[in-house]
Amino acid sequence: MIELSHIEKRFGDNLVLKDISVTLAEGTVTALVGPSGGGKSTLLRCINLLEIPTSGSIKLGDEKLEFAPGRKIGWTAIQRLRRQTGMVFQNFQLFPHQTALGNVMEGLVTVLKWPADRAKTRATELLEKVGMAHKADAWPATLSGGQQQRVAIARALAPSPRVLLCDEPTSALDPELAEEVVEVLSRLAREGTTMVMATHDLRLASRVADKVIFLDGGLIVESGAPKTIFSAPERERTKKFIASLS
Ligand code: ATP
Ligand code: MG
Repeated sequence: MIELSHIEKRFGDNLVLKDISVTLAEGTVTALVGPSGGGKSTLLRCINLLEIPTSGSIKLGDEKLEFAPGRKIGWTAIQRLRRQTGMVFQNFQLFPHQTALGNVMEGLVTVLKWPADRAKTRATELLEKVGMAHKADAWPATLSGGQQQRVAIARALAPSPRVLLCDEPTSALDPELAEEVVEVLSRLAREGTTMVMATHDLRLASRVADKVIFLDGGLIVESGAPKTIFSAPERERTKKFIASLS
């Protein structure tokens, strides 16, 4: 379980996350939706400490970190929390000079110090899971966007993180390639992978998410089951946003 309590994030004078409290239950998928600039990416980046929250706390398993302005978070604490999260980015960000297999093995070998043969076995299993075993020796530049994203998902899952964080995993892809990625994410969801994903793709959110959080202006305006948020939202702001997309 991941508990975010009263998370705030400030960039200079700009308070971009305001009092965000949310519990992400084990084995559930949470979709962050809302207008551009609403704070979706920042919230994901706060969960794996690519951004350090200005205040509030994050509890992930046994690890609890409390943030306050001016308080330094130790590097080892950051590393410990980061190892429990995997991140998938909109533009894949594979290592260009590593094969698909090399990309998935990299963190296991360099960060976790696994022996190469064990890392290779794990990476091969993961490439199979995302339907990319046949491209294990391919270079990222020779793969389609959908294939690259599936390798990126395998890479993020390699160290068995508690939670997979996905920032717009399908938005750089044509519909057909996006569908490949959605299928992989749906399968992971069915298998009980805990995920949080920021997405503009309401179809993805309705198919995969157990819970949708509508973020606007750094605030959680409304949250609930996808059906409720998409078909019968309560708040005016949510209604307007959903209407603007259809
Ligand atoms: P989009 O749908 O366009 O991806 P988003 O919901 O992911 O938007 P964020 O990228 O989290 O929104 O941005 C939230 C706010 O934080 C914006 O006002 C943005 O300008 C600001 N912001 C994000 N990162 C930084 C940064 N590193 N420095 C300063 N401001 C930032
Ligand atoms: Mg974003």
